[in-house]
Amino acid sequence: MKVLVINCGSSSLKYQLIDMNTEESIAQGLVERIGIEGSVLTQKVEGREKYIIKQPMKDHKVAIQLVLGALVDKENGVISSMDEISAVGHRVVHGGEKFKSSVVINEEVKEYIRECFKLAPLHNPANMIGIEACEELMPNVPMVAVFDNAFHSTMPEKAYLYALPYELYTKHGIRKYGFHGTSHKYVSQKAAELLGKDIKDLKIITCHLGNGSSVTAVKGGVSIDTSMGFTPLEGLAMGTRSGNIDPAIIPFLMKEEGLTIEEVDNLLNKKSGVLGISGISSDFRDIEDAAFKEGVHRAQLALDIFEYKVKATIGAYAAIMGGVDAIVFTAGVGENGPESREGILKGLEFLGVEIDTEKNKVRGKVREISKEGSKVKAFVIPTNEELVIARDTVELISK
Ligand code: ADP
Repeated sequence: MKVLVINCGSSSLKYQLIDMNTEESIAQGLVERIGIEGSVLTQKVEGREKYIIKQPMKDHKVAIQLVLGALVDKENGVISSMDEISAVGHRVVHGGEKFKSSVVINEEVKEYIRECFKLAPLHNPANMIGIEACEELMPNVPMVAVFDNAFHSTMPEKAYLYALPYELYTKHGIRKYGFHGTSHKYVSQKAAELLGKDIKDLKIITCHLGNGSSVTAVKGGVSIDTSMGFTPLEGLAMGTRSGNIDPAIIPFLMKEEGLTIEEVDNLLNKKSGVLGISGISSDFRDIEDAAFKEGVHRAQLALDIFEYKVKATIGAYAAIMGGVDAIVFTAGVGENGPESREGILKGLEFLGVEIDTEKNKVRGKVREISKEGSKVKAFVIPTNEELVIARDTVELISK
């Protein structure tokens, strides 16, 4: 059985075709600049040259048409006809409180995803466009929605409620939802496998550190707290996002800098984080170059602040779980940034985790990076959100 996984953004679209008999990726691709000049599709198939299509794509429907075309292309494709695609799994960022797990898409589900637009105004509308375009182009293929926040639906009330007037929760759904759920789920399950133990008996802290970053406390296989909140702005210092700040800074900025709500929103989401501190870039490679090769203070400071907040969150989550068995690093920085991992784990020996600096010299591969005999194990585990989406899709359509 072959499943197509679609992750649709506002101007981009990631896709992957997965053979679910082997759980191997058959082809993966990225469409960029949809609806803007310079649209391009890049498809990668193991052992082949990249297949690149540059042509105007006025909307997502055109983009998905080209994706399907690329998959069945005589020379560069990987399947002989679209009939080989048994199902489509869509990543949907926000499922609100209603969906605690993935669902087969029908009219009611779509209506609810639309209701959640106000909770994820940048992401959900784009996800919806992807769903509708696929429905039009593949009317008889079952589709499944996999929500980014569903894995965190197990958080207890005391973790997800903010200390605001309770009515704001009942009226507007203002609470912590959490994100990167598929990633935290995948790497925590993989860590349990590596430990050779039942996940029900484990306390795992998963650190998804990329452009957007979040840490999750996974106890007995379920999320009991996570650092992102009502939106993906809460929590750690990220590429361009501030993470936690004193909320009083917002009215202060509006008064003193004369900023509008939109300007403050933009400042917190796009101009803050390691970009804001370093003044150099949101990309850790650029910041590390500036810090390590040129000794730029603010670049080092950005890295220090980033690591400090991850470390503090690990400490907090060890506290709420009453201990920790494993700490997992994943996503762009988590998988590829040995310096960041070392900065985060150094000083946590009191928790029982001892990093092995030699083993830690790894990028993008599954590896234990704690010393032999370290009570708490540390792992690098490349995430595979597409596979989680495809697994959920198969499970639901087989029912
Ligand atoms: P997104 O949240 O957009 O999915 P990713 O998980 O792809 O982000 O992470 C992207 C970030 O990973 C980049 O901004 C970069 O800072 C970091 N990264 C990627 N490769 C490396 C590397 N070799 N060393 C350090 N950081 C890296």
